[in-house]
Parts: sequence; C-alpha cells; structure tokens
Amino acid sequence: MRFLSTRGAAPAADLVHALAVGLAPDGGLYLPATLPRIDLATLAAAPTPAAVCAELLRPFFADSPLATDLPALCGEAYAQVLPLRALAAADDYVLELFHGPTAAFKDIGARFLAAALQRLRAPGTPPLTILVATSGDTGAAVAAAFHHRSGFRVVILYPRDGVSARQAHQLGAFGDNVLTLRVAGSFDDCQRMAKRALGDAALRAALPLASANSISLGRLLPQAGYYAWAALQYWRQHARALSFIVPTGNLGNALACVIARRMGLPIGRIVLACNANDTLPRYFAGEPYAAQPSRRTLANAMDVGAPSNFERLRALYADDAALRADLTAHAVSDADIRATLRTAHARHGLLPCPHTATALHVLQRLRAAGDTQPFAIVATAHAAKFAEVVEPEFGHAAAIPKPLAALLARPSHSETLTAGDDALLARLRQLHHIG
Ligand SMILES: *Cc1c(COP(=O)(O)O)cnc(C)c1O
Repeated sequence: MRFLSTRGAAPAADLVHALAVGLAPDGGLYLPATLPRIDLATLAAAPTPAAVCAELLRPFFADSPLATDLPALCGEAYAQVLPLRALAAADDYVLELFHGPTAAFKDIGARFLAAALQRLRAPGTPPLTILVATSGDTGAAVAAAFHHRSGFRVVILYPRDGVSARQAHQLGAFGDNVLTLRVAGSFDDCQRMAKRALGDAALRAALPLASANSISLGRLLPQAGYYAWAALQYWRQHARALSFIVPTGNLGNALACVIARRMGLPIGRIVLACNANDTLPRYFAGEPYAAQPSRRTLANAMDVGAPSNFERLRALYADDAALRADLTAHAVSDADIRATLRTAHARHGLLPCPHTATALHVLQRLRAAGDTQPFAIVATAHAAKFAEVVEPEFGHAAAIPKPLAALLARPSHSETLTAGDDALLARLRQLHHIG
C-alpha cells in the first residue's frame, strides 16, 4: 500500500517511510491511499485482539518488509487484556484500554511502534534517540515500549507542573536507556523544544533522532484493532452495531475508530468527548475550524487546543459538511468532570479516570436526551494514575493496578532543565559527547 500526504503535494510514500518520518515533505501527514473494506467473516474468525488487528492491518503492510512480522508486532502491542464490560444500565458499556504497563491506552500504539522500528533497524547502525514531549501519558508509554530495547534511547520532556504526582514518578522510574527531563515550563515549551531539536540538521547529522508523538502513523494504525475487536464482540452477541464515546485530545484514538468504521466494522456513531478545550466541539457545531491556545483542565492528557490529527480526519471527508454529518463532539467542564467522578460508582458501577469521566458525562447527556443506542465509553487510563483528582471525589483511595504499582515501587529520577531551546540542544550534545 502507498501512503499519501494530507496536503497532496508530496510524492506517495511506502509504509516504512511513512512510519519513519513524522511529517511529509509538504508539511502534511501520511494516510493510507485507500481504506479497503474488510471481509467481516474472516475478521470475525480471528480469535484474539492481536489476530483481529493483524488481519485488519494486513492490506497496509502487504508489500512491505514488515508484512511477515505483522502478527508478531500485533502480539507485542496487544499483550494485555481488553475487556468490554457492561455498566449498570442496559446498553451502556466500557471498553477498558488501561491494562498495559503504564495504565493508559497509549501503551498499545507505543509498543507496536517500538516493535516495528526495532525490526527495521539495520545491525551495526548507531542508536536511534526517540525524543518525546509529553503532557503525561505518552512519555511513559513510549519509555516503557523502548525500555531495554537495544539500539534505542528515549529522551522524555515533561512540564514540571503539568502532570500528576504518579505520572511524574512513572516518567522517572525507567532509567537505563531512558533519560527523563523535567522542564521548568509548559507542555507547549516542551513541544517547541523537541521540534527545534528534531529540526536541527547539524544535531541530527551527529545524532540520529526520531519522534514518537501523536501524529506517528505507527501508533495510530494499531489502535484501530481494539475498536474492531470490541465491535465484533458486540456484534456476535447482539447482531447490532456498537457506538463509541471517545475521550479526545489530539484525535489519535478517535481517528483510529473512524478508520475501523470506514473499513466496514459494525460501528455506529462516534462521539468525541473533549474537556474545556473546545476547538472540536465548536467546529462540529458549525463554526469554522479555529485552533486555540491550550487550557489546563482536570483531564490533562486532553489539554489540546490544536488537535494534531485534525488534518488527517478532515482529509478522510470530501468537505466539512460530510465530516460534520459523521461525528459529533461535546465539551465537558471541570465541574462536570468532578460531578461525574463523584457519582460514577453509584450510578454506573465504574471508577473512571478524569479523561474517561468526560466520556461518561457525555453518555449521561445522551441518555438524558433520550438516546437509546448501545454505547461503549472508552476508558483511556486507570483512575489510580490521577489519585489527587479522583480520590477526593470518590471519597476513598483508588486501588493501584499491578503494573503501575511495580513502576511506582521503583526509584524515580528526573533531571531539571530550563525551558529554552538551547538547554535541550546542549543536553543532547553532552549526552552523546558531541562538540
Ligand atoms: C492521550 C490521552 C487521551 C487523548 O487521546 P488522543 O489520541 O490524543 O485524542 C485521552 N485520555 C488519556 C488518558 C490519554 O493519555
């Protein structure tokens, strides 16, 4: 399969190129040239999430050097349980994506990317440094995925005051080939510094660098697998399409759901749950698309004012009207997140994280408006990662899942860095003893 830039002014790329680079030469993002319709009978016969994902992604990998590795890549990505659990009321479900090593859904995409890049490394080439700016969950997922993989080093940049205490501990708990930098600035500072380093030709000539950010195709594609798995599970039991409510920041997770539906999976409606960063809800309500500066909320991993995958989503539709007809988006305030956290257990039998709470709140809105379709909210992280937000509302401690407990039991070390572009360049040069 060939991959085309969303801006249409770059040559078509093959899979390996599209996986390796962030942006296409015209500044756009790569998408598969076509989203072929899958044979549902074949897909339904696949026994595990990994097998479903491998079957779904087969057309994209068909003529690439990774074609025969695809089942193994999916096996590494999907080395976790993937429950679709019924909630208290009929037709309400939760798809739990937080059973991986860092207790957030990003583990699945990060592990797929790491497994793919490892197989593409030629022996004897100098180590590749993965540079990642994180608002909390991405950095840990990428670090866990590349930890102890020979030929790779990870450098994480996170905003000093922008992550939860457990996120901060987790980010510093890897060591070995992972360097964690705690930046005295905002997430936007971290992102700018990473971009500047990735764009520095002299540095890159001396030090092979790659990013693993939210536009990475190697993270996006495997995420379609869990929507396919969940929709098929539901289809087998109920012979109906399942609709999804997706907590949304940079739109990587929701876009994977759109891709799965395009490929013929029995997925009904796709509803985006955003926090107070309402760029998408405004757009879907009919306003022109207008990126905004990000605002801090209780659902910090979704504090995005300029969703980086919007360009991909828009490119899948003929025009704005077609896109607006196919998806809806809701903004959820911090007050509504708190209220939802407080009552979630009594009303739904669920202890959500603040991000998952946005989806749960949207479900409540839809039910209050008389919507009776079967809906699964997507649980993007475990509540225990955000103890300081959820515990005052729950009124008790959140039980810590085993993988998270293992990371929290390790010592944690982060270096402090000032929020200037030169500080990062100097640190990277020093790390690799470059003059
Ligand atoms: C990253 C993240 C999101 C947002 O996902 P996108 O793919 O950026 O839309 C939501 N919830 C949690 C817990 C996350 O870590």
